[in-house]
Amino acid sequence: VKRVGGGSQERWRVVISDGEHFIQGMLATQINHFITSNEIQENSIIKINDNMTNLINNRIIVIVLNLEVLNSTPGLKIGNPVDVGTAPSVGGASVVTAAKPLYGNNVSNPAAQSKPEAVNSNPYGQSRSPSSNPYGSSNSSRTAPQSNSYSNSNAPIVRSNMSLSEDNHTPISQLNMYQNRWTVKARVTSKSDIRTWSNARGEGSLFSCDILDSSGTDIRCTFFKEAVDKFHPMLQMDHVYTFTNGRLKVANAQYNTCKSNFEVSFDQNAEVHEVADDGRILQQQYEFLPISAVEQTEPNSNIDLLVVVKEVHPIGTVMSKKTGQELFKCDLTVVDQSNVEINLTVWGEKAKTAEANFANQPIVAFKRLRVSDYGGRSLSSSGNGGETVNPRIPEVQPLQHWWNTQGRTSSTLKSLSTRGGGGRMDSFADRKTLSAIKTDNMGYGEKPDWMSVKATFSFVKKDKEGGPWYTACVNEEEPCRQRVKVTQTTDGYWHCDRCNKTSEKCKRRYIFSATIADETSTSWVSLFDEQALQFLGEEHTADSVYDRYFSDSSNGDTEGFDGLFAKATSTDWIVKCKVKNEMVGDESRVKTTIYSLTPMDYVKESRDLLEAISKLSV
Ligand SMILES: [Zn+2]
Repeated sequence: VKRVGGGSQERWRVVISDGEHFIQGMLATQINHFITSNEIQENSIIKINDNMTNLINNRIIVIVLNLEVLNSTPGLKIGNPVDVGTAPSVGGASVVTAAKPLYGNNVSNPAAQSKPEAVNSNPYGQSRSPSSNPYGSSNSSRTAPQSNSYSNSNAPIVRSNMSLSEDNHTPISQLNMYQNRWTVKARVTSKSDIRTWSNARGEGSLFSCDILDSSGTDIRCTFFKEAVDKFHPMLQMDHVYTFTNGRLKVANAQYNTCKSNFEVSFDQNAEVHEVADDGRILQQQYEFLPISAVEQTEPNSNIDLLVVVKEVHPIGTVMSKKTGQELFKCDLTVVDQSNVEINLTVWGEKAKTAEANFANQPIVAFKRLRVSDYGGRSLSSSGNGGETVNPRIPEVQPLQHWWNTQGRTSSTLKSLSTRGGGGRMDSFADRKTLSAIKTDNMGYGEKPDWMSVKATFSFVKKDKEGGPWYTACVNEEEPCRQRVKVTQTTDGYWHCDRCNKTSEKCKRRYIFSATIADETSTSWVSLFDEQALQFLGEEHTADSVYDRYFSDSSNGDTEGFDGLFAKATSTDWIVKCKVKNEMVGDESRVKTTIYSLTPMDYVKESRDLLEAISKLSV
């Protein structure tokens, strides 16, 4: 066990042995406390629960991310372990690989990276003379400066211009237009959905992925037509492949944020083979920002985040303005230990799998999220981003600790996304009272105002001619999507002007108004079908209530109908409302529409209240 590096950056180098083999290692800084608390001393027995390996100066270094101490009392060295830390060199030539940053540091020029750690090739054998010390070296010699077995390790490492890496692969950083045939070996760090295009010259499909190699450079690859069918199912995130027979072109910096100045096109002649992941290529590199910093981030810039996915909202669709196609979208509420949460939208196939992918509030590293100023600040997973659920990086542990001890139950998280479109409920601290509609002059801006209140339904205006609903077209598809009101023809059928079709049936959808009240005020609100079903219960659809209480076959059970609404009236809800000024005739009126209803969770509400009270200063 040896401390390396000076100043505040405390790092511990260790030699770990299983009795047969030994290897050099470093402790990730967040587990330094095992050493400072003396839980680990030399010859302590530990169990390594998580680790990654790095190649430094052609030596494999094990980065210990997580461990358990099985026996901290120092014993004696076990066995005569043999060094297994030297990476095999190819063709007898000694290969020097540039030292890589452990994680996160994106340095464009490998030669500019920090000097490699001096690693002693034989930490067990300073002295050959027999000694009572099983390690063969005295304490004083161990703390003295050690001789350096790599004569060049203090000098900057400069690659010769056309050098190939150890297994005859061209480093991505050295690809150029004058090479006809090359092979790169790289890790897939992001992968897009398949997109289709059509223009005057024909149509086709494509997908792209970003790949990163051991030179620390990534490049955008786009696969076209036949190559899509062949390689889209094959290429997996985080796996390592060799890529041959691509065409280089200059990258479009507007859409491509990879480090390489080129991008690659692959067609059916591409050769891609999966190869073993020997750990020489870094996992995706990140430059994490805390969410709190997103507020000051320019819209349209790209950022990386390490977050807890707190909530996955229901999947929805929007119409793409560009293609006219329906796009799947899914909003996530993500949070980190800066005590700030933000809305993050994932699209396409990723939206469809979001609920399964992000189940159970995992920690996720997102690469290249696009910052938008939509509704304050929000984020969008761009086509060339990627995400890794439960990434094996040391930054995960402090975030997990924060989430387990504070974040999960905190009601004081600040939110950067104020829009209502995501269906996100405001936190306890962001709630307003109904009187704020007047006192804050809500609804008079260009865009609607959104507010969450804790309120009780005091009156429901259910007794309308024909019932508290309207009759909509049954067509779930375009063009009307059950949004168009239909009228009954004299022969009892329902005609939709939009679809220009006649059906036997119609679909009844709720629409009614009500008053909600809190301790400050009362307000009229409108409810549509979706909110009315939250209010009455999903099973009480307008059609079923009509059949039961209104249709010819019902027995005119007005008491049952009244009872259904009476049961729901006087109940407590967290109500999310849209407040907007509207002109009714020539009169301006502030209209409050319920966007969503959440039943009161009294336990959580009490906890939030207690926490808020405890923060009140007298
Ligand atoms: Zn219709």
